[in-house]
Parts: sequence; structure tokens; C-alpha cells
Amino acid sequence: MSDIEIPESHPRYQSLLTRHRIEEGVEKGITSQQGLIAQGRGEAFDYLLGERTIPSADDAARVAAAHLLLATHPVVSVNGNVAALCPAEIVELANTVDADIEVNLFNRTDERMQAIVDHLREHGADEVKGLTADGRIPGIDHERAKVDADGIGSADVVVVPLEDGDRAEALGAMDKTEIVVDLNPMSRSARVATVPIVDNIVRAVPNITAHARELADASREELEAIVADFDADAALADAERVIRSGSDGSE
Ligand code: ATP
Repeated sequence: MSDIEIPESHPRYQSLLTRHRIEEGVEKGITSQQGLIAQGRGEAFDYLLGERTIPSADDAARVAAAHLLLATHPVVSVNGNVAALCPAEIVELANTVDADIEVNLFNRTDERMQAIVDHLREHGADEVKGLTADGRIPGIDHERAKVDADGIGSADVVVVPLEDGDRAEALGAMDKTEIVVDLNPMSRSARVATVPIVDNIVRAVPNITAHARELADASREELEAIVADFDADAALADAERVIRSGSDGSE
């Protein structure tokens, strides 16, 4: 990572790099202006979490990997912030767990959809879904309900980093296993997720991939046991405790 003129030793290097990528995303028509606001909200929570992966978020990432390895049809959903921040890492995760990638936008425009598809292809994606939009998520308004019928529409496990609360709720109501990455443990998306990962997507996505690699040879029984042991409410409560107290109990 060296796409900005800041030494990697700078104490705020990661945070500045992330900001720079979002700014660039807006310039390229990948990220919406709303995405800048979402980034700001995320940064505040990341600051309070100590800009690191807390142990309960690492556990959740391992559970997410187990779900993805057990899935029949996993799909990783990508929006403008995710595409700007970690496109290559998304492609690597999808390749590792044999998932589809689908672009899924809150403010959907054909130009932005295409720009994101092109950007993901530049970062190694073969097929990117989302442009067909021949499926619907029931219970939400028309534009935001659009999905590909053979993508998110028929997925059993979906990774929705930075999903908006409404759509996360509607996807949950479709009986899909929902893996949400969100730095705010109090957001509706995190609260309706089967597996909430309270971490920055730039850390969480490669971390899920690393866990999936490590679990590649695990049996179905082992994976099912990892999934069954997980307590989503406890993970959210732990993240909220870390934010409020500033300590994860490990130091
Ligand atoms: P709710 O889910 O409660 O309806 P919202 O959809 O209104 O909330 P937004 O501000 O639209 O929330 O979405 C931004 C969410 O994404 C925030 O919860 C923020 O913490 C989170 N977020 C932003 N950037 C990142 C990031 N890089 N990694 C993880 N989470 C992030």
C-alpha cells in the first residue's frame, strides 16, 4: 500500500490511506457523496475501537469464514465504499470461498454500477453480478430492492459489508445467512446480522479470507460446530463494551 505520499510509519497512515481511497472513489464515480458521510461515521467508531481488530471481531470473522465454506451459494455484496477501499481483497475473498461478487447500491445509477464493475474487474474479478437486476428483495422500495436473481436473489449466505439497515433487515427476512461488517455495533445492520463483524472492512475482509484458508480442510462437522457456538448478541455487546471502556480485556 503506497498510493499516497505519506510514510507508512506515520501514526495515522492507515486512516489517511483509507480517506484518500474514498476521496479517489468519489473522483472516479465509484463512491457516492453519501459514502463520504458513512466513512466519517465509521472512522469515529474505529478510533474508539483503537483502530484494530478486537478479539470478538476476530472470532466473528472466523465464524463468517465457516458459514461461507458451508454455503451452497455464497455472494459477496459490494457498494461504492467497499469497492474504493478494498477491491482486490474482495476478489481474493470471493475466490477463496468460491463466492459470487454482486454490486449492490443504495443510490443506484447505471453509471456508478458500471464504474464499480469495471473497477472490480481491474482488480482481478472475472464475473461481477448486479447489472441484470432481474430479482427483488421483498419489503423495500423499488430501486433499492433490485438484485440479480441468480446472485443475491438465490444466495443462501450473503456478505454485506456496510449494508444500510433497511436492506439488511429485508435480506434477513428472506432467510439468508447475513454476514455484516460494520464498525458501529449499534447500527441496525449489525443488529439484524446472523454474524456481525464489528471491524473496519479493510481489516475484516482479509481476515475472513485468512480464516477461510486456515479452515479449508476442516470437516463439515467442525465448521457446523464453529457456527453453532457463535452468539451474535454477545459479540455486539463486547464491541460496545470495548468502545465504552477503551479496553478489550486482553491487555
Ligand atoms: P443503520 O444500519 O443503523 O440504518 P445507516 O445505514 O444509516 O445505519 P450509514 O451511515 O448509512 O448508517 O452507514 C454507514 C455505516 O457503515 C456506519 O454504521 C459506519 O460505522 C459503517 N462504516 C463506515 N465505514 C466503514 C468501514 N470502513 N468499515 C466498517 N464499517 C464502516
